[in-house]
Amino acid sequence: MIRGNYHTHCSFCDGALEPEAFVAEALRQGMDPLGFSSHAPLPFPNTFTMKMEQVPDYLRILRELRERYRDSIRVLAGLEIDFVPGIEEYQEGFYSLGLDFTIGSVHYVDADEQGTPWPVDAEPELFDRGIVEVFRGNVRAAVERYYQLVREMVGTNRHTLVGHLDVIKKNNPNGRYFSEDEPWYRDAVEETLEAIVRSPAILEVSTGGIRKNVGIYPGVPILKRCRERGVRITLCSDAHHPDHLSAGYPGVEQLLRDLGFKEIFNHTGNGWEPCPL
Ligand SMILES: [Zn+2]
Ligand SMILES: [Zn+2]
Repeated sequence: MIRGNYHTHCSFCDGALEPEAFVAEALRQGMDPLGFSSHAPLPFPNTFTMKMEQVPDYLRILRELRERYRDSIRVLAGLEIDFVPGIEEYQEGFYSLGLDFTIGSVHYVDADEQGTPWPVDAEPELFDRGIVEVFRGNVRAAVERYYQLVREMVGTNRHTLVGHLDVIKKNNPNGRYFSEDEPWYRDAVEETLEAIVRSPAILEVSTGGIRKNVGIYPGVPILKRCRERGVRITLCSDAHHPDHLSAGYPGVEQLLRDLGFKEIFNHTGNGWEPCPL
């Protein structure tokens, strides 16, 4: 069984420690491959992305690590790229960097009246403010808009992986804002799975939410539908520290087997291939 991770944030963005510390821990665990996915720069102020001027250094250091450790682990260079309508031109260059993969993620849903983008996975206070100021208190409209953006992102066919599909639930503990059982929510998810099935993208199953007590992304009901619909999946940890690299993997691998998944996609020497789970 291949055990890799393609969602890794190091000191180039909002992760802890230098890239090499992650490689050392991956080697210790026998994890292979290890894909780095720093948050790609954004054209507006934020606290988590790389700066544009850091990108060449990021790529150089990953190339050096790839060479240094080439006999023991495959180090892959990727980016987690935000989908925000209107900034495509700014992001265009990311797709010609010769990356091994990209993760497409929606962290921002529209903007307030001052034009400040609304982050849906940030602090609860910000989430609350966005619901009120961007969507006039209409939670359903906000959530449906989130999934609409994910579909638009998938429709660009630009990304290898789809990041944390239902991250919109992060600020919804105990169904505080909405119920994931409601027909409108299921419809929004279903329509999004349809878009993913039709695209070449692979859906990440992320243990990142487990660390934050939100649970796996996507949650079990969505994973069941993924299995029924034949959505291609891979396993990632959204690591921000070497200790996170395979955190939660054994339990989630068992869960996936219990749900009937037989294989997950991994980046092998031959590209992305289904591998026995
Ligand atoms: Zn993300
Ligand atoms: Zn991430």
